[in-house]
Amino acid sequence: MNSTYPDSAEQLLRTLPTGLRIGGQSVPSITGAAFDVTDPATERTLTSVADATVDDALRAVETAHSAASVWAATPTRERSDILRRSYEILVERTDEFAMLMTLELGRALPDSLAEARYGADFLRWFAEEATRINGRVTTSPGGTGQIVVAHEPLGVCLAITPWNFPLAMGTRKIGPALAAGNVMIVKPASETPLTMLALADVLTEAGLPAGVLSVLPTSNAGGVTGAILSDSRVRKVSFTGSTRVGQILLRQAAERVQRTSMELGGNAPFLVFDDADVDAAVEGAFAAKMRNGGEACTAANRFLVHSTIAEEFTTKLTEKMAALRLGAGYDAGVTLGPLISADQRASVAGIVESALASGARLRLGGKIPDGEGFFYPPTVLDQVDAYAPATREEVFGPVAIISTFQTENEAVAAANSTEYGLAAYFYSRDIDRCKRVATALRAGMVGVNRGIISDVAAPFGGVKMSGIGREGGSEGISDYLDSKYIALT
Ligand code: NAD
Repeated sequence: MNSTYPDSAEQLLRTLPTGLRIGGQSVPSITGAAFDVTDPATERTLTSVADATVDDALRAVETAHSAASVWAATPTRERSDILRRSYEILVERTDEFAMLMTLELGRALPDSLAEARYGADFLRWFAEEATRINGRVTTSPGGTGQIVVAHEPLGVCLAITPWNFPLAMGTRKIGPALAAGNVMIVKPASETPLTMLALADVLTEAGLPAGVLSVLPTSNAGGVTGAILSDSRVRKVSFTGSTRVGQILLRQAAERVQRTSMELGGNAPFLVFDDADVDAAVEGAFAAKMRNGGEACTAANRFLVHSTIAEEFTTKLTEKMAALRLGAGYDAGVTLGPLISADQRASVAGIVESALASGARLRLGGKIPDGEGFFYPPTVLDQVDAYAPATREEVFGPVAIISTFQTENEAVAAANSTEYGLAAYFYSRDIDRCKRVATALRAGMVGVNRGIISDVAAPFGGVKMSGIGREGGSEGISDYLDSKYIALT
């Protein structure tokens, strides 16, 4: 064990969850296999976690199926109370969950604290939504009878979550699924299974009946989720992750016509017009770029700045990026942790090299530090062509790529020149321009004069290759309900 861990981390390391969660129990894999979870700051093993096999997956489907009808028939007030209690336990344990996420994900503790609160809030929100699943009754216009529309749970749902928000991407799916009366099997990212296992324990402690939620960490993601989806009792897959894996899951779900929610990759533009408050834009840009150390699908991926204010904007943003303190996320004062893995760091470094090769200017960073851990420094590149290859890829790291524009049309065209459409941001003080540009940007979410847009009460999701469906808000629960039309005389 690393002697430099703070006391709170040392305590957690002695009690890390390591079994699969099936039928309300912590169980080993059928084969007894396990895989390692690594601390990205030291590259050392934190613990080994049970490695679910296809047989474990089938056991989880069986258990989920047998719990489904009882849970669906449980009064919504009772379902709501369990989610609300889970929220309260999570809030009590905010510090513990934040440290756990920092240990397995690497990122700085302040970012983990923010996710601990954000993640808990989805349980509160969907506890509130649970009791407001309303149908409708209308009279047929032809006078032939009554149209009754009821909403029913789907049954067994599969959730597959990414490593970059190990708690919130779970609660954003588990909250609405359980509130709506579904049962769920979660396959967390193999890099960060510990947070999801700890979350399952919180739900059990809050009174969730056995079998309603299973968690299957695995080193065989495709095999395990493929087996689950090949069972026709499974009626939905909700996925957050890369577009490439989303496409595989969409093809698999097509076989049995299972419902899908896909929260996929992004390539968010961040536009700064010449009428913007530059200082506010720099604050917003920093928040939109550096939330979660840049490892967010909503992260500002390309800055498009009017040429007359580009130098001022770039100088000020560079100063803020330079003030970040790089280090192990659990060390006091650190504001930027390591990236999740060596592969992720190589991908970030590759994008920076590609930008430099096509003529970008390096204003900050760009050099991998020596020593252990998957660290990459805060980096700023300007004079990047708005259509350069480096602007086509999702960076997923602390790298700001800055291009310039002359006209609004040029800026909007460049912003929309991507196959993705998750988030977009812009800064302007002209109200007419704000309305025009917000309408013209092809994205599921648009931030106007703000750099942080995530909110449990808002529908989160993308257009184009960024996905299908919405999570959060009242839209989030409808993705877990079927409408049934009952014709009455
Ligand atoms: P990823 O697609 O590699 O992995 C996501 C999850 O899918 C993990 O649990 C992984 O184990 C699993 N997986 C991998 N291969 C699979 C397969 N063949 N079948 C089934 N499951 C499989 O993505 P990542 O690298 O973990 O996460 C980063 C990506 O996630 C980025 O592209 C980012 O934009 C996206 N993301 C999107 C959102 C959103 O809400 N739109 C949120 C966070 C992250």
